[in-house]
Amino acid sequence: AERAEFADNAPARAADLYRTALQAAQSPVQALHARLFLARSLAEAGRPRDATAQYRRLLAPGLDVVDQQGIPLALYATSRLLEMGVADSAMLRCLQEATASDRWLPPPTLYLLRDLATDLVESAPDSVAQGAARRLVEDVSREISRTERAQALQQDFRGLGLHPLNGSGPSSRPEWALHGSPPWLAGMTSPGDGGDTIAVAVRSGPVLASLESGTASSRDVVGEVEVVSEARPDGEPLGPGFPGLAVRFAAPNGEGNAMVGTVRWWFYLAGLSLVIGVTLFGAYLLWRDVRREVELAATRSGFVSAVSHELKTPLSAIRMCAETLQMGRPAQPSARTEYLGIIVNESERLTRLLNNVLDFSKIEEGRKTYRREPRRLGEIVRVSARAMQYPLEQGHFTLHLEVDEDLPPARVDADAIEQAILNLLANAMKYSGDSRNIDLRLRAVDGEAVIEVADRGVGIEPAEQERIFERFYRVTTPTEDGVPGTGLGLTLVRHIAHAHDGRITVESMPGAGSTFSLFIPLEEAES
Ligand code: ADP
Repeated sequence: AERAEFADNAPARAADLYRTALQAAQSPVQALHARLFLARSLAEAGRPRDATAQYRRLLAPGLDVVDQQGIPLALYATSRLLEMGVADSAMLRCLQEATASDRWLPPPTLYLLRDLATDLVESAPDSVAQGAARRLVEDVSREISRTERAQALQQDFRGLGLHPLNGSGPSSRPEWALHGSPPWLAGMTSPGDGGDTIAVAVRSGPVLASLESGTASSRDVVGEVEVVSEARPDGEPLGPGFPGLAVRFAAPNGEGNAMVGTVRWWFYLAGLSLVIGVTLFGAYLLWRDVRREVELAATRSGFVSAVSHELKTPLSAIRMCAETLQMGRPAQPSARTEYLGIIVNESERLTRLLNNVLDFSKIEEGRKTYRREPRRLGEIVRVSARAMQYPLEQGHFTLHLEVDEDLPPARVDADAIEQAILNLLANAMKYSGDSRNIDLRLRAVDGEAVIEVADRGVGIEPAEQERIFERFYRVTTPTEDGVPGTGLGLTLVRHIAHAHDGRITVESMPGAGSTFSLFIPLEEAES
């Protein structure tokens, strides 16, 4: 069968031969070996289901049958099943039984067990099986560390200088010795009838625990208890069962105290730094707030004088025109029409200014509301352009209007949008410098409407572009000196944009002009 499997590379024929071998097996050991090889050749022959069934039958006998290295065949079967992607409770149980058995397992078996259990954690079908597999890994790991300690003890044993406990050696030599950490109590004994000498090792932890539970007074012990060799003066003999060993009690305020002191010192230092840090941070916040308040107070008072100034200019123009008309001058009808035009225009400017101030105070008090309804933005843009027609003409501006008529409606407060456009147009005029061209466009970009107001005027420094939307904020540059304003216009535009789930952006280059874009979401086009 092996020749067929390995030399001829004929797994199917090998499987038949292994099956014959299985039937002819003289002992369970032979049978299980034959089954292991049968399963392997079935898998190679492309019959995974049959292979799996055979491997499963190898799990049941457990650890009894081992190969030359002492590794149980059941573990090989588990390993192959895992490689084939099979993971179930029978396999877990097989590994659990292997770990829990009283039998001493050689290190290679333990390492294989740990590898298989780790694989099972990963391929376990559910969280319960996963938890069980994880516990199994812990158990096996504990067993491995004990075995490794036992191997280390075996190597060091001669160096411990022990002699048999019940032997007849000179009694001055130690009969127990400590080994490793946490310490094991190592001793040696030889049965009286001349049989082999046996090494004995006991973990000190359980010995101390049993001492504690067996002694009433030990409940009052505070601090640490450790096992030492009896040669040390600060130990109490461990008892007649453990000649040569003692227990030592370390009081809680013994050597450990220096360490505790250092820790406490560090703790105080950290606490102190924290307090100083928090105080400094608080002071910084306070200073920042105060500075802001001072700045705001300054801008507010600037705002009041700016508003008074803004009110005064149109009012005096209106008054002058009205008084001139009242006196019956000028005589020509064209001049009278012009005066009347100025009155209308300046009153409109006043209205816009007052609307801005009133809206701003509503916003500040949280009372500003918007009534949104489906409207065509093209219409609103045209109305706004018409409203600014007179001042534009007076300033000799040319307004280039481009409106995409196919835009679906948007849910907007028409008055608010108009106010925003008027503010942007008024700014474009104010900050146009020597240029006399302004663009007003409405188009759709990626499902949003964009209202763009572009001028070719003084432009805005990049550092100022974010700040111009802050309330009362005005750029102070030599070129804009003397341009009247309140610093509210863009604040309102931004508020209106946000209230419509939109946004306002600016693109600008000093000296080349600015483009303000007001984005407003469109209603879904109905199909
Ligand atoms: P106001 O125009 O009343 O000062 P705004 O809030 O409308 O207040 O504008 C804030 C600042 O933004 C203005 O002081 C101005 O410096 C700058 N700004 C606004 N629009 C433009 C523009 N089109 N071109 C250049 N600067 C502008």
